[in-house]
Amino acid sequence: MPEKNVGDEDVKAAIERTDTGDGPGTDNLDDLPESDFVGCAEDDAGAGPQATATIPYDCPVANFIDELSATGHVTHTSYKKTSVTLHHNAGRLSHQDVLDVWTVRPASAHFDVDAAGAVAQYVKVNEYAWAVGNTAGNQSSISIEMANATLAPNWTVGEATWKNAARLAGWLFAEVIGERPSRSNLFYHHHWSSTVCAGPYMDRIYDEVLAAAQVSYDHFKDAHPTPRPDAEPVAVERRR
Ligand SMILES: [Zn+2]
Repeated sequence: MPEKNVGDEDVKAAIERTDTGDGPGTDNLDDLPESDFVGCAEDDAGAGPQATATIPYDCPVANFIDELSATGHVTHTSYKKTSVTLHHNAGRLSHQDVLDVWTVRPASAHFDVDAAGAVAQYVKVNEYAWAVGNTAGNQSSISIEMANATLAPNWTVGEATWKNAARLAGWLFAEVIGERPSRSNLFYHHHWSSTVCAGPYMDRIYDEVLAAAQVSYDHFKDAHPTPRPDAEPVAVERRR
């Protein structure tokens, strides 16, 4: 199982990386708020059917929200979100690998997109993830992690990964933020704090990433006003 071994090595490397410059454990420890995790994991341990719901995306979203919450590395306070921030894993990590790193390091992000382009959610979209090393950024931005295809120095990210991250960003702009993605609200981690994340490769293709996010936003925005046939009729009540 060579792929698993690669993941294990990269998890170890990510956990042992002590600087705060990169990877899915990149938050600035000086800037972390007190966790408001109150140890309720024991109380609702059998959370199965009551698991916190993921976003109603039109592609599958693996649900790691309650497992991440159990690490305490999230602040369950809601904020108005005005931007999306992209990161790279600094490793070839699976969704589970990312959770494993965040179990050890005091860090988190709302989403991860893996090598195949599959999406996982770890933090509710309006909450404060420990992601960008900047309090205002963690309050106002939704963070998406991306698996790397290659490691240093280029830290490339596969097309399936960044395109699905851009697609997810477009959905978030349409459904949560309510603004079209632009240079002033689609950021990389280094917008907020001193880091190279999301890496030189992602820097080179920023224009393509933004364009893909805009295509996705336009798609979901246009699809949005169409009422579902079984939607509640609210027109009558509104007319008074
Ligand atoms: Zn980052």
